[in-house]
Amino acid sequence: MTRTAKSISEVVTSGLCIGCGLCEAITERRVQMTMTPLGGLRPDSVDTFTSEEEDRLLSCCPGVVARARPQTDVAQDMIWGHHSTMRYAWAGAPEVRFKSATGGVLSALGMHLVESGTVDFVLHVAPDPDHPMRSTWVMSETAQDVLDHAGSRYGPTAPLAGFMTALERGQPFAIIAKPCDVGAVHALSRVDGRVDQLCVARLVMVCGGQSRLGKSRKLLDEFGLEEDELSLFRYRGHGNPGLTTVETKDGRKFEKTYQELWEDEGSWELETRCKLCPDALGEAADIAAADVWPGGGPIGEDDGFNGIIVRSPAGEALIESAESAGNLMFGGAITPREFDDFQPHQVRKKHAVHARLTGLSQAGFPMIDTQGLRLEELDAHLQTEARTTQISGIKERIASGRIGEPLPEKD
Ligand SMILES: Cc1cc2nc3c(=O)[nH]c(=O)nc-3n(C[C@H](O)[C@H](O)[C@H](O)COP(=O)(O)OP(=O)(O)OC[C@H]3O[C@@H](n4cnc5c(N)ncnc54)[C@H](O)[C@@H]3O)c2cc1C
Ligand code: SF4
Ligand code: SF4
Repeated sequence: MTRTAKSISEVVTSGLCIGCGLCEAITERRVQMTMTPLGGLRPDSVDTFTSEEEDRLLSCCPGVVARARPQTDVAQDMIWGHHSTMRYAWAGAPEVRFKSATGGVLSALGMHLVESGTVDFVLHVAPDPDHPMRSTWVMSETAQDVLDHAGSRYGPTAPLAGFMTALERGQPFAIIAKPCDVGAVHALSRVDGRVDQLCVARLVMVCGGQSRLGKSRKLLDEFGLEEDELSLFRYRGHGNPGLTTVETKDGRKFEKTYQELWEDEGSWELETRCKLCPDALGEAADIAAADVWPGGGPIGEDDGFNGIIVRSPAGEALIESAESAGNLMFGGAITPREFDDFQPHQVRKKHAVHARLTGLSQAGFPMIDTQGLRLEELDAHLQTEARTTQISGIKERIASGRIGEPLPEKD
């Protein structure tokens, strides 16, 4: 019988926590996100939730639910979901385009929202000033703040640790985060009326998965560096994709290309939740932004081009207003099948996720309750042998202890 986790403790021990930070926000920091020896952010003290807090968390935790926020009267694609626009886009300002991860669409839209007075601030993530290899949530109140926090952070991030602080300001705001984070925001909106009233723009990146901190630590090992020597850790940006750049307090600089960093898939150290992710394409967001490299990877540097998937009337109004103000530039249309070519890993995963979740369930683990994400229909396209391989792969991982994980140790 399929079931979801009965407690947040079970979410964590089943490997389904992505470390979004909502546990910290809902408990007003009584429960805090802590870095585990495995290199993931997890809530500490999971035995201290009140029953009201835990019920609320279980209704929106990404380890429990993943739901699309569908719109009527827009196109539907089996892989990419509902969308009103799919096209190339990039930031109008060359500086934004250069500094950002890809073409700067997410930063340009965040900056436009602040500059136009549509929102008072943007909730997103940035390097931790004291530990630049790690990330922290930030509320950017000016366009310059948004730009200062541009770029992809491939290690653990907990943007929703700041979500209640954001709501409690009582001002309209935007969020830029991963699809799982924004999925949790959408689920929370069903039990907290302030979410739809105040969180007026929800922007995501299409997401191939979050690496554990060990991925970044190994890079420091290669460079012969200790974490406390660092003054900067930039995963990409300053070009597209730009170099992964590490700088030390005593002025040394180390670089690696994007291709060198990601060429060995075995070294990615992706979170378990990512391998089971029902929605890495942001179907609860207003706009999702992606890379658009044919075949799925860069062959060199370019000026920075995003593919955007606009999913809601609010998303349409935002791109139109940003383009009119010169903050966003448009290229041509992109078809869903062209997006398949840019993101072959996403297409493979979207087809495999239902079988992987079935493997979890058959092994007695909790599932993620999914709605509006077409996983069963996509599963029907899998060959029987491929389905069996996915199911047994998950069961083998469970049997060898690679999916479950211990609760964080208490101080
Ligand atoms: C973990 C991860 C996996 C990704 N996988 C893919 C993929 O498979 N396919 C693909 O097309 N693109 C992927 N991307 C997205 C890609 O790297 C760009 O982020 C995207 O194209 C948007 O580019 P941009 O120039 O508009 O972003 P920018 O203008 O640089 O803005 C990025 C924004 O995202 C926020 N942010 C950065 N990292 C995180 C994070 N880890 N959690 C929450 N918020 C964050 C920043 O605060 C900033 O506001 C991934 C990004 C991340 C962080
Ligand atoms: S995914 Fe988020 S809400 Fe769920 S257990 Fe982890 S931190 Fe808490
Ligand atoms: S792959 Fe899914 S679970 Fe993992 S970080 Fe991306 S959106 Fe979240």
